[in-house]
Amino acid sequence: MLNIEIHKTNTPQKKPDENNLGFGQFFTDHMFVMDYSSKLGWHNASIIPYSPLSFEPSIMVFHYGQAVFEGLKAYRTNDDRILLFRPEKNMERLNVSCRRLCIPEIDVEFAVEVIKTLVNLDRDWVPKKEGTSLYIRPFIIATDPYLGVKPSDTYKFIIILSPVGAYYPEGMNPVKIYVEPKYTRAAKGGVGFTKTSGNYASSLIAQVEAKKKGYTQVLWLDCIEKRYIEEVGTMNVFFKINNQVITPPLEGTILPGITRDSVIQLLKSWNIPIVERKISIEEIYESNTKGQLEEAFGTGTAAVISPIGELNWNDKKMIINGGNSGALSLKLYEALTGIQYGKLPDPFSWTKEVK
Ligand SMILES: *Cc1c(COP(=O)(O)O)cnc(C)c1O
Repeated sequence: MLNIEIHKTNTPQKKPDENNLGFGQFFTDHMFVMDYSSKLGWHNASIIPYSPLSFEPSIMVFHYGQAVFEGLKAYRTNDDRILLFRPEKNMERLNVSCRRLCIPEIDVEFAVEVIKTLVNLDRDWVPKKEGTSLYIRPFIIATDPYLGVKPSDTYKFIIILSPVGAYYPEGMNPVKIYVEPKYTRAAKGGVGFTKTSGNYASSLIAQVEAKKKGYTQVLWLDCIEKRYIEEVGTMNVFFKINNQVITPPLEGTILPGITRDSVIQLLKSWNIPIVERKISIEEIYESNTKGQLEEAFGTGTAAVISPIGELNWNDKKMIINGGNSGALSLKLYEALTGIQYGKLPDPFSWTKEVK
């Protein structure tokens, strides 16, 4: 195990108003940084005051996007304990992304220890208000000052923390989703299964165009036939048709969400039929026409469950469950947030306490 050097700030900041946190706008007093070089491996693990970093304009991440990241949260319980939700899964997935992007991996146990140490130091920053949390953003960037295209020899692993507001301050709101007919998120053999920066840069244009048409996000279809459902925005997607829940399989083009996996495990434990299989947009459309499409929802760390009230596929509009949140979406939301905030028993041992 590496030692973590800790340099505490002398000038703690004023905490933001918990009623107006939004997402990713405020940062805590400290951050974690660690360097990699081919000679030394990962070294210089330290927690330092949150501050700007300085880099040469030539560093490789600025030019070729060799970067990976993760996103998870710390939750405050009613009795002021701080819980993480399946943090080892995020760190395992970070390593999956690292392997694909030719970035050196990080020991999972060590990385979880680092997160616990950092969150514990800034534990007063975990907000108290209902539905709020502390978002944790670990990321790795390529830092060689070099303009040739090759894997970098040096990297920086950084973790920053951001107190975030409740995703649903006024209760669950279903979203309107545009089925993207033109742009593609990922192809087989590509990087769709990784959290790498380029995936998000390339998806912006579809999001911008959907917003102009009055939609919150896009539903991505497969890149070859433009038929099979992939994901919705930066969430995995589930459909409930005729009492069966269906979600697209993990075949390299979609992100293996930890919320997705947790939803599948919960459904199985409730004996609700859940299948991972290819599902086409025609099938969704036909089920909706026949009145068999009962619910659709996205899953991800930020929203947990995001019910879909409308899908627009080439101007054919599908209104799902009358445009309202469905019973299963609500049940899953209550179950997951109940475990995350320590309000319900944790039968899967998903939470890890920070202390
Ligand atoms: C992060 C992410 C998800 C959701 O993953 P969770 O682990 O559930 O937060 C889904 N799709 C994409 C593209 C993502 O980046």
